[in-house]
Amino acid sequence: MRIGFGFDTHALETGHEFRLGGITVQHTKGATGHSDADALIHAIIDALLGAAGLRDIGNQFPDTDISLKGIDSQVLLSKTIDLIREKGFTISNIDTTIVLQQPRISKLIPEMILALTKTMNIETGQLSIKAKTSENLGFIGREEGISAYAVVLLETG
Ligand SMILES: [Zn+2]
Repeated sequence: MRIGFGFDTHALETGHEFRLGGITVQHTKGATGHSDADALIHAIIDALLGAAGLRDIGNQFPDTDISLKGIDSQVLLSKTIDLIREKGFTISNIDTTIVLQQPRISKLIPEMILALTKTMNIETGQLSIKAKTSENLGFIGREEGISAYAVVLLETG
């Protein structure tokens, strides 16, 4: 068994679509970045790559690659699953936490779990998504950004 950890953060700005957990969140602001800036998917990808000894998202999908500009992070997640399967790993479980002040997203978690487990071809019970605020502290509390954390357990065979 192999454990992996991932972290990601993105700025939130008005006038951007807010992609998170493979779905669109209705809000006045959205996360900004080179791809669709889906912080939860990026944290999961880094955890998967780390567990498999495949470095990180920036190494596998460099932001200098213009073919990846604005790309749906679900596509990157699917490519990552292919990479870890090629190395002979299967996913045991994934546990994640999103830290976001606004909007409150707990009602959207089942939809995110469906979207992401479909892409990773795992059971819904193998992915946990938790959401919390930062108690109004720091850049997340000021609604300037979002962070996400993920741990995964991979098994061989
Ligand atoms: Zn990211």
